[in-house]
Amino acid sequence: MDRIVIIGAGEAGTRAAFALREAGFAGSVALVGSEPHLPYERPPLSKPLDGAAKMKPICDAEALAAAGIDYLQGVSARGIDPGARCVELNDGGALAYDRLLLATGARPRRLACPGAERAFDFRTYADAAAIFSRAEAGRNVAIIGGGLIGMELAAVLRVKGVAVSVVEMAPKPLGRAVPPRFASRLHDRHLDEGVLFHLGQGIAQIAEATVVLADGTVVPADIVVGAIGVSPDVALAEAAGLAVGNGILTDAFLCTSDPNIFAAGDCAAVAQPGGGHMRFESWRNARDQAEIAARNLAGGKEAFAVTSWFWTDQYDLGLQVAGLPQPDHQSITRQLDRGELEFYLDDGRLVAAAGLGLGNTVAKDIKLAEMLIAAGINPDPAALADPRVNLKALLKSARAA
Ligand SMILES: Cc1cc2nc3c(=O)[nH]c(=O)nc-3n(C[C@H](O)[C@H](O)[C@H](O)COP(=O)(O)OP(=O)(O)OC[C@H]3O[C@@H](n4cnc5c(N)ncnc54)[C@H](O)[C@@H]3O)c2cc1C
Repeated sequence: MDRIVIIGAGEAGTRAAFALREAGFAGSVALVGSEPHLPYERPPLSKPLDGAAKMKPICDAEALAAAGIDYLQGVSARGIDPGARCVELNDGGALAYDRLLLATGARPRRLACPGAERAFDFRTYADAAAIFSRAEAGRNVAIIGGGLIGMELAAVLRVKGVAVSVVEMAPKPLGRAVPPRFASRLHDRHLDEGVLFHLGQGIAQIAEATVVLADGTVVPADIVVGAIGVSPDVALAEAAGLAVGNGILTDAFLCTSDPNIFAAGDCAAVAQPGGGHMRFESWRNARDQAEIAARNLAGGKEAFAVTSWFWTDQYDLGLQVAGLPQPDHQSITRQLDRGELEFYLDDGRLVAAAGLGLGNTVAKDIKLAEMLIAAGINPDPAALADPRVNLKALLKSARAA
């Protein structure tokens, strides 16, 4: 096996290319990326302190060259022929492969109301540049969708002096991924900062300088941003006859229904031990899956089984969530000097933890909580709640036991 092709030069595709070399793969590596830039990180797009679009490259051209990665910048894969093991490119070229990684990521869901074409997406550097260059102090921005990206954007724009309205179908913002306690703290902070919320509301129409809500309310909007979530980019996989669902379906080893094709990152839906498939949309998941997929592409057989983790920054607050908190988990709160932690127990076992605090306050504790989760312990809830009980000491005694 000496030719590996990667489609998609985002976090997952780029990390996988380097991880192939770290795994000792000496054959050719081609990285096909449709965006006209060097690979770049998406999280900084919605967190610029000065409210201007920021491009943070994942690597420079020298690093790609030094690792012997052939980066096809601004080139799209148009089709895959799994029988011939060949990728067709939009520039007329073709790439033969022995093994292929699909790291095509996700695309923003589009609004379906009249005037939806007026709304900006927020996924790429080009989207960020278009939004931030227009959103000046004194202008009105309506953000459709009160999820993580919509709320991060709201925070950046408020700091810049922009008037921000958030329209959300659900009764509360941040309801999907953020534990209710912290969703409500962040919501309160946005209210204090002057963000106007229209909750439990659909959109009737996006007009020239307004958004008309389902109940007839007219929201002033010089700029409208659609932030209603993403759909996995499965088009190539589907056309190639691979199994797809809510993502490109893989087994636990990130291998698709074709034994020579793997998938990683936002596009991949990975088989779960209890049945079904799960897709994750986070920066660290993209990196973790990329590294495992690369080792498996290079001949390894490693199952993907890491604790999920994501963060968000809004104003001067930082939230981190490790694992997947569920409403039926027992939750235990610990107060910190400049923040709060919440631990989640499933039948007594620690399975998730979240923390919200000033800046990076909770980072160290969440790191320790991740280790405690990995250790599979059944901690004493009173010890978790007590800030005087050092989490490091808990970990030490868990390991000793
Ligand atoms: C604004 C923003 C802020 C975020 N903030 C956070 C955060 O704070 N914390 C966090 O954990 N996560 C955050 N995320 C999520 C995180 O960035 C993503 O989960 C991660 O980037 C996924 O990486 P990926 O490589 O799977 O997909 P992507 O980053 O989407 O990369 C896929 C790439 O593949 C390319 N591609 C697709 N099809 C083709 C084709 N046919 N040919 C060639 N190229 C193709 C696409 O153009 C794209 O460049 C944020 C995302 C966004 C958009």
